[in-house]
Amino acid sequence: MNVMNIPVVDHFIAGEPVEGVGARLGPVYDPALGVETKRVRLADPADVETAVAAAAEAFPAWRDTSWARRQAVLFTFRELLNGRKHELAEIITSEHGKVLPDALAEISRGQEVLEFALAMPQMAKGGYSENVSTGVDAHSVLQPLGVVGIVSPFNFPVMVPMWFLPIALATGNTVVLKPSEKDPSAANWIAGLLKEAGLPDGVFNVLHGDRVAVDGLLGHPDVQAISFVGSTPVARYVYESATREGKRVQALGGAKNHMLVLPDADLNLAADSAVNAAFGSAGERCMAVSVLAVVDAVADDLVGRIVTRMKGIRVGDGRRGCDMGPLVTREHRDRVASYIEEAEKDGSRVVVDGRDVAPDGAAEGFWLGPTLVDRVALGSRVYTDEIFGPVLAVVRVRDLDEGIALVNGGPYGNGAALFTAAGGAARRFQREVQAGMIGINVPVPVPVSFYSFGGWKQSMFGDTKAYGAQGVHFFTREKAVTSRWPDPVPDHEGLDLGFPRNV
Ligand code: NAD
Repeated sequence: MNVMNIPVVDHFIAGEPVEGVGARLGPVYDPALGVETKRVRLADPADVETAVAAAAEAFPAWRDTSWARRQAVLFTFRELLNGRKHELAEIITSEHGKVLPDALAEISRGQEVLEFALAMPQMAKGGYSENVSTGVDAHSVLQPLGVVGIVSPFNFPVMVPMWFLPIALATGNTVVLKPSEKDPSAANWIAGLLKEAGLPDGVFNVLHGDRVAVDGLLGHPDVQAISFVGSTPVARYVYESATREGKRVQALGGAKNHMLVLPDADLNLAADSAVNAAFGSAGERCMAVSVLAVVDAVADDLVGRIVTRMKGIRVGDGRRGCDMGPLVTREHRDRVASYIEEAEKDGSRVVVDGRDVAPDGAAEGFWLGPTLVDRVALGSRVYTDEIFGPVLAVVRVRDLDEGIALVNGGPYGNGAALFTAAGGAARRFQREVQAGMIGINVPVPVPVSFYSFGGWKQSMFGDTKAYGAQGVHFFTREKAVTSRWPDPVPDHEGLDLGFPRNV
């Protein structure tokens, strides 16, 4: 393709596409074709300034807009989204590579949070107590923070921003979203639809870029809070940098999610679940199952059932009715494939090798098929690293105790799942496992919108999870008001320099 003809993805600031001043551009690929189809602008510090200024200018009017009017905009946005989500799914598939039904599913999960936010007037009501002291009343209100920054990863270009933005907007904040530079277009599409729904210009802005854009947001005095989702090293960096600047931060990081299978589990259910959770979206999910820990007694049987199912997975272009698409970039595909090479050398057994895949798609696509590595040693990098691709590591354990110890031994604590028929084992697992999200006979336990999403340990920095009640908490700050209206106003009560007591 003639490089001169490649479309450029602009920023979206104050209600319109903006070229900005930054001269740098990043490549955007169609992973199933293996070609660069677009370029994205990479912000300079001056572009960060423009985006934050637009959000800061829009804040007072949006904060002062009535609940009824704010809710009406979000409701209209939902209706428009329902009618046009196929367009958005096609954008996701063309830049991320995941298959179209999976792209639609991620939109639906994001939309759940939007629907949750439609009840915001009820959830952000504050409280009122009459006569807390004689003749004194107290009440609390939840007020917005101001300009908030959202920084999102490549693997969910719609769902992850939607974990935050409906709640941020419903509570009266204005937003600068910095999406992943690998699949930037969905964010602009959302910005356009919000505008069509009646969102005033400047309330929601999209700033494209890389570390320069993120650093600009982290250090900007007008940005009050940062919601970050990405890999653990960057999450830690974002958390440390932004809290140093006095900002409120929730920084969700990487994962290595274990699925433990006990001998009493339904092995067909466990096999289906392991395959879906390991290879859906080519393993590029922070809640993907990447380690299968199975009790020895049923290990060979379960691995056999999984291998049979893996042979039925159709890998190819996500627009052709396949089950699993390509990886996001060639570089990432090669990095994931390097782990298979490593497994061959470190004594693990590569039972199904995704490098042999025959995809239904262009030869240049970033293909890697489902891979199963059995008898993985705990010291192997296949076990220790977050690979973020279609590689399932199998580890054999003696029993529930050893399984729980294994899950708790790693640095991450995002999700963990147990497959069993025993209530007692399930109860022990959910109590003792050190992870933020637990599945019992559910392999990808992403909480619904009215619970909250977030991991423990190295999987999340900050103490407030995404969406649900904790999301409302994150995007508001409470003000407590104590008031007295003496009637009739008494004579002068005299001086009392003691600390006020409630009587
Ligand atoms: P990433 O950390 O490379 O990038 C995330 C965001 O940070 C992007 O917007 C990127 O532009 C920006 N960024 C990258 N390097 C940066 C740096 N040095 N300084 C400042 N900003 C930087 O992550 P990714 O590859 O886009 O996404 C995959 C990762 O995200 C995986 O580790 C996955 O587990 C994690 N993830 C976690 C969750 C969760 O909820 N815990 C959800 C989705 C993805």
